[in-house]
Amino acid sequence: MPENPESRTAIVTGAARGIGAGVAKRLASDGFKVAVIDLDESACAATVDAIVSAGGAALAVGADVSDAASVDAAVERIVSELGPPTVLVNNAGITRDNLLFKMTVEDWDAVMAVHLRGSFLMTKAAQKHMTEAKFGRIVNLSSTSALGNRGQVNYSAAKAGLQGFTKTLAIELGKFGVTANAIAPGFIETEMTAATAERLGVDFEDFKKFNAEQIPVARVGQPEDIAHTVSFLVSEGAGFVSGQVIYVAGGPKD
Ligand code: NAP
Repeated sequence: MPENPESRTAIVTGAARGIGAGVAKRLASDGFKVAVIDLDESACAATVDAIVSAGGAALAVGADVSDAASVDAAVERIVSELGPPTVLVNNAGITRDNLLFKMTVEDWDAVMAVHLRGSFLMTKAAQKHMTEAKFGRIVNLSSTSALGNRGQVNYSAAKAGLQGFTKTLAIELGKFGVTANAIAPGFIETEMTAATAERLGVDFEDFKKFNAEQIPVARVGQPEDIAHTVSFLVSEGAGFVSGQVIYVAGGPKD
């Protein structure tokens, strides 16, 4: 356990909006000082303002998680302005969907760079602060697409890759008090799923309704559904839960 729980610092990547913003706000209300990372620092203002006006502490940090120098500078700044991080949520993500025969090498590489290289770089930079504290919590955002999804050969490979990444982190870091788990969301209402509807030429409300009909709990997910699961996984009491993939998808996935 951290020596001073009041000084806990969490990093959430891709937290300007969507799931990342929901997670950042939840962790702030759980008592963490939250570093809100996104590509554009000014885009983080809405998340940071919401946290601060609710009485929490947050820092906007502009960084590209796929760039090593950018990641190292971001983590250094977080350490000096908020304190050493003991929680990392690798949430930043992009889609570049297309059928395999039409997918460009650039679209393959872009998705791998943000999800896989980004999570690797962020985790490498943050983990030394966790091992020094003998306490840490890493949560990686996978997806039900890891099980295969038409038009997402790049994204599904990256999201399946994150599951292997997570399990290996759990094996390597467990003896330092650091857990690593993955959350695999199903359909969550964000700009990412809105963009998918637009790409398919479907009205977003119709798209949500269609998806909700396929989901056992009969609704689409919200960022708060993922934030709640993150809150559990990063809690001190979850120290015996590691290397797991939790599907937060409103029903069973195989
Ligand atoms: P979103 O609304 O598109 O938000 C993703 C955020 O990540 C954006 O603010 C984006 O910034 C940022 N980002 C992209 N590339 C980045 C980079 N290189 N460095 C730093 N930040 C970067 O997506 P979301 O729906 O909240 O998804 C969040 C995570 O959950 C992703 O990993 C996604 O794959 C996963 N997920 C989502 C769903 C879903 O149904 N929504 C389901 C399963 C998994 P810009 O706006 O500047 O691009």
